[in-house]
Amino acid sequence: MPGFEFFGEEERKEVNDVLETGILMRYGFDGPRKGIWKSKELEAAICKTFGTGYAQLTSSGTAALTTAMAALGIGVGDEVIMPAFTFVASFEAVLSMGAVPVLVDIDETLTLDPKAVKAAITPKTKCIMPVHMCGSMADLDALKTICDEHQIILLEDACQSIGGTYKGKHLGTIGHAGTFSFDFVKTITCGEGGVVMTNDQNVYTKCDAFTDHGHDHLGVDRGADLHPFLGYNFRISELHAAVGLAQIRKLNTFLAIQRKHNQILRSYMEQVPGISFRVVPDPSGDSASFLSWFLPSQAHTEKAIEALKAAGIFAGNFYWFANNWHYIKKWDHLKNVQSLYALNDAQQNALKKLQTIEFKASDSIMSRCVSTAISLVWTEEQVHAKGAQFLKVLKEALS
Ligand SMILES: *Cc1c(COP(=O)(O)O)cnc(C)c1O
Repeated sequence: MPGFEFFGEEERKEVNDVLETGILMRYGFDGPRKGIWKSKELEAAICKTFGTGYAQLTSSGTAALTTAMAALGIGVGDEVIMPAFTFVASFEAVLSMGAVPVLVDIDETLTLDPKAVKAAITPKTKCIMPVHMCGSMADLDALKTICDEHQIILLEDACQSIGGTYKGKHLGTIGHAGTFSFDFVKTITCGEGGVVMTNDQNVYTKCDAFTDHGHDHLGVDRGADLHPFLGYNFRISELHAAVGLAQIRKLNTFLAIQRKHNQILRSYMEQVPGISFRVVPDPSGDSASFLSWFLPSQAHTEKAIEALKAAGIFAGNFYWFANNWHYIKKWDHLKNVQSLYALNDAQQNALKKLQTIEFKASDSIMSRCVSTAISLVWTEEQVHAKGAQFLKVLKEALS
């Protein structure tokens, strides 16, 4: 799954280009940088690779989400509908804008259930944010229909699904805006980094300035820039962008390996009685960074996990239901409003309400779900051996 498994000569070369000039910042210093513009180059490569009109790099995926929301005008008084299974960054970004995260149930796509989304819409709903979890995608047609009907923004958190597609278009390029994360464990990495993608020039222009203290980047030098609105510093550094530039060139290799390994593993798992798989709305577009599978009940799942652990082969598998970062069940800091600074009243009320809301549909899916991370460095033989071992252990445990 992660690009860090393929770190090598290519990354070192790109980083060294930057070290040769010593210009670690992405803006300015036109003379001394001697034509080295890694961030600009990576943005152009992102546009070309993923088929998006505009790309704005950021210092992280969280910063990318925050920037996208700012550029889309999401703020105090607005509600953002998001799934109960995601990464904490999704609600962090919403809260940092002053908006209210409205968490709703998922379905077997492992992200937003369109029916749950519909039921959660209020006059305050400004944005629907599907999170394309674990390499695969949301039911985007259904969500787009809801957005169009209610004139709501569609913001795709595609941080975990770099390279995945839906009906021929890259995830992250289908909504009004979309984001990737390039943190250390993502499909391509910069060490830390992220990007906002959009086809709307106006949204892009706002992202460009917002991530750099509101600089309009129209002056002849930074000092001559105007500041049409407030911004922050969410800039990526040239060193990080350099790593990403080497990584994006390897993306097709990563995807081909992931898809091959995923398919082999699945062929073994399919032979385990009672196992089913995550619903993938466009199977040909699965980035295949994970194989997510279900057992018939929570008890079966716990038993299977025990058996895999006992056999020493659970590493690289994730039972999100019991995980602190990814599922509502363990987000006590969110439900108890443990914020270092005062949140607004609407936010506080919404978060406290989470203490009493039940997510039965999500619980019944997540308590039966295990995701197996697909490594890029396994050999084909190793994948077969792993598959055979899984098949044997799971069959025994579940019989
Ligand atoms: C990784 C991730 C992010 C943001 O990640 P950063 O670590 O801030 O780059 C956002 N959403 C999801 C679903 C993620 O997995």
